[in-house]
Amino acid sequence: MECLFCKIANKLIPSHVIYEDVSAVSFLDINPISMGHTVVVPKEHAQNLLEIPDSSLGDFFGAVKNSTAMLQKALNPAGFTIGINHGRISGQSVDHLHVHIIPRFEGDGGGSLHSVVHNPPNEPLEAIKNRILESNKSK
Ligand code: AMP
Ligand code: ZN
Repeated sequence: MECLFCKIANKLIPSHVIYEDVSAVSFLDINPISMGHTVVVPKEHAQNLLEIPDSSLGDFFGAVKNSTAMLQKALNPAGFTIGINHGRISGQSVDHLHVHIIPRFEGDGGGSLHSVVHNPPNEPLEAIKNRILESNKSK
C-alpha cells in the first residue's frame, strides 16, 4: 500500500482521529491552518471526486457533516470553509480524495473561496453553458 491516506485510514500510520465510521476517517491535519483543521477521507481509495463510486458518496459526505458538527460543538467557530483541492493545480498533494474542514474564527485573516482564483472568463455565460451542455449530450 503506497497511498498515505490509505495508510492512515488503515491505522498503519498514526494520526489524530476525531471521527470514524464504516466508510470514512477524519483526522487533524498535521499542518493546521486553523484550530481544528480536519481532513476527511473515504476508507476506500479514490483519487478524487470523479473517481469515487456514486454509491459511496452519500456515506462520505455524511462523515463530512458529522465531523463538522463535532468541530462546531467542541470549538464553536464562527463558521467553516469546507473544500477539496482537486488536482495538482488546485494544491492537491495527496492523491486520495479528502475534504478539508477549516474552522473559521473572527479576525483569522482568511478570505472566502472567491479569493482562491482570479481568472474570470472572457466568454459570455450563455456560451459557456452551451459548451458544457453540448459536451455532455448523450448520443
Ligand atoms: P492537499 O494539499 O489538499 O492534498 O492536503 C493534504 C493535507 O494532508 C495537507 O494539508 C497536509 O498537511 C495533510 N497531511 C499530510 N500528511 C499528513 C499526516 N501524516 N497526517 C495528517 N495530515 C497530513
Ligand atoms: Zn488511498
